[in-house]
Amino acid sequence: MADRYQQFTKSPVGKFVVPKLGLPNPATLRRYKPGQPALEGPALLGAAPGGRLEKVIEAQLHRAGIEVVSTATDKHAALVFDATGVKDPKQLREVYSFFHPVIRSVGPSGRVVVLGTPPELAEGHERIAQRALEGFVRAVGKELKRGATAQLVYVAEGAEEATESTLRFLLSSKSAFVSAQVIRVGTETKTASAPADWAKPLDGKVALVTGASRGIGAAIAEVLGRDGAHVVALDIPAQGADLSKVANKVGGSALQLDITAADAPEKLAEYLTTRHGGVDVVVHNAGITRDKTLGNMTEGGWDSVISVNLASQLAVNEKLLSAKVLHENGRIIGVSSIAGIAGNVGQTNYATSKAGVIGMVNVGAPTLAEYGGTINAVAPGFIETKMTAAVPLFIREAGRRLSSLGQGGLPVDVAETIAWYANPASAAVNGNVVRVCGQALLGA
Ligand code: NAD
Repeated sequence: MADRYQQFTKSPVGKFVVPKLGLPNPATLRRYKPGQPALEGPALLGAAPGGRLEKVIEAQLHRAGIEVVSTATDKHAALVFDATGVKDPKQLREVYSFFHPVIRSVGPSGRVVVLGTPPELAEGHERIAQRALEGFVRAVGKELKRGATAQLVYVAEGAEEATESTLRFLLSSKSAFVSAQVIRVGTETKTASAPADWAKPLDGKVALVTGASRGIGAAIAEVLGRDGAHVVALDIPAQGADLSKVANKVGGSALQLDITAADAPEKLAEYLTTRHGGVDVVVHNAGITRDKTLGNMTEGGWDSVISVNLASQLAVNEKLLSAKVLHENGRIIGVSSIAGIAGNVGQTNYATSKAGVIGMVNVGAPTLAEYGGTINAVAPGFIETKMTAAVPLFIREAGRRLSSLGQGGLPVDVAETIAWYANPASAAVNGNVVRVCGQALLGA
C-alpha cells in the first residue's frame, strides 16, 4: 500500500537525486491531528470592492482562532479573497491584483480560497465573470507547490453566515487531498447552526456507514466517531470479524447486512428505529468493482455493480425518508468516484453506477432540502487502499503522479470530507459533489 517512490524522495539519496533529475517531488501533506491549530500562520484576507462576504468571513476566521491580516507579509498560510463584488469580466482584474503579488508567499500545505456568487443565481456580465473564477482557481491549483491547494466557494445571497464549516474545512489540514474544487453553499437550504463544540460536532448523533469493515469505510467510521457520533458500522456477514473490530474501536455498533437484499431497507429502518431512535447521518460507502471491458462483461458483472453501488442506496434512502427514520436535518452522503466523472477502461459498469450517484445527489437535493436535510457526495480519486494496491504498477504510478499533489490520498482524506458534510453547521451545503483527488488530471 505504501508509496515507495514518495518515501524514496524523502531519503538522503532521494533528496539529492530527485531535484537533479527533475523527477516529481510530492510534498508531505499536513494532516489533521486533534488539537492542531486551524491554520499554521496568518490568513491574508482581501475583497473586490462591493463584496458582501469580507466582514462575515473575517469574524468566522477569528472565531476559528485564525490570525487574519489585511496587509501582505512574507509568508501566508492562506490567501482568502471575496470576489462577490466582481460583477463584470473587467473587474476580474481585482482577482489578479490581489493574488499576483502574494501567490509565492503561500506556505507548505497552504490554502487559497476564492469566494463568489453562484453563477446560476446571477445574470449577464456578473454571471460570466463569476463563472470565470472556476478557470482561475483550477489553474492556481496546478501552479501551487508544496502541498498547497486552491478552492472556489460559491455562496448564495443570504447564506453568508452559513459558510463557516466550509471555510474551516478548506483552510484546515482536514482537506489535505481536496484541491481545485467548486463548492456551493446555500443554493438549497439556508439554515445552519454552529455545533456547541467544533471538536465534537456530531455529539449525540447516530451515523450509519455502509461497507465499514475496512478501507475507506473503516476510516469514515473512525472520523465520525472521533467527531462524537455513535457509528452503526454495516457490512456483509462475511466481513463480520473485521466489522466488529471497527465497531469496537469507535465505540459503535456492528450490523451485518447485505444492502442489496430485497428486505435490507426494511430491516435497516427497523434496526435504526428500535436501537437508536432513528439516524442522523447515512454514508453510502459500500461499493464493488467487477472490471471487464464491455464486450467481455457478463450480465451478472453489470447487475451486481449497479445493485451495490447505486440501486440499493436509492431503496435505502426512499425507505429512511418515507418512514421518517432519517431525522430532520439529516444527512445522506454518497461515495462516487472520478471514474464516474471521467470514465475508465474496463469499468463501464462501475463508471455508470458512480455517475448515477451524482444523479442521486442532483435529484435528492431539493427533496432533502424540503425535509430539512442535505445530500452530497465525495468523488475520490486515487486513494491508497487494498483496492488500489492491487492495480498493476505502471497504472498505479500514473494514478498517483498524474495529479497536482503528485501522490495518492489516504482513506482519512475521504473521511474528513464526509465529516464536513455531516457537520450540523454544513446545513446549507447541499447538492455538492466534491472530488477528493489531489486535482487528478483524470476527468479534469
Ligand atoms: P473496499 O472493497 O475495501 O470496501 C468496500 C466495502 O463494502 C467492503 O468491506 C465490502 O464488504 C462492502 N460491501 C460490498 N458489498 C456490500 C453489500 N452488498 N452490502 C454491504 N456491504 C458491502 O473498497 P474501498 O477502496 O474502501 O472503497 C470504498 C468506497 O470508495 C467504494 O464505494 C469505492 O467504489 C469508492 N472509491 C474508492 C476509491 C479508491 O481509490 N480506493 C476510489 C474511488 C472510489
